[in-house]
Amino acid sequence: MPGVTSDCLFCRIVAGEIPATVVYETEAILAFRDIAPKAPVHSLVITKAHHADLPALARADPELASELLTGAAEVAKAEGVADSGYRLVFNIGPDSGQEVAHVHAHVLGGGRLGGMG
Ligand code: 5GP
Ligand code: ZN
Repeated sequence: MPGVTSDCLFCRIVAGEIPATVVYETEAILAFRDIAPKAPVHSLVITKAHHADLPALARADPELASELLTGAAEVAKAEGVADSGYRLVFNIGPDSGQEVAHVHAHVLGGGRLGGMG
């Protein structure tokens, strides 16, 4: 469901209740640095509206899903990795290890990333 839920960590960041280092923001999108970076550049890009994961967002609001992806590309530019390359990761569901049930893209880069295997 869209909207803001008070028990969701990323909704609380959107509401300004939990501090974050913001690297990019539009009316609908917010990006901030991951608190436990797994690469030299590691930011999270979220929709300000609450959606549980990417499939839920894409079904409910395809235009906003597209904005999330272009937002991720803008974050890569802002973080200086657009030309050197980066990885976008969406964790979805238990086997992925998704910890926060509010859609977010991980933008990872700033050095050679490990293989996917
Ligand atoms: P997931 O595992 O759900 O795909 O990713 C959640 C991410 O959120 C993790 O990489 C974790 O380090 C990050 N994270 C968890 N709590 C916070 C927080 O309070 N602030 C920020 N900036 N990142 C957080
Ligand atoms: Zn939320």
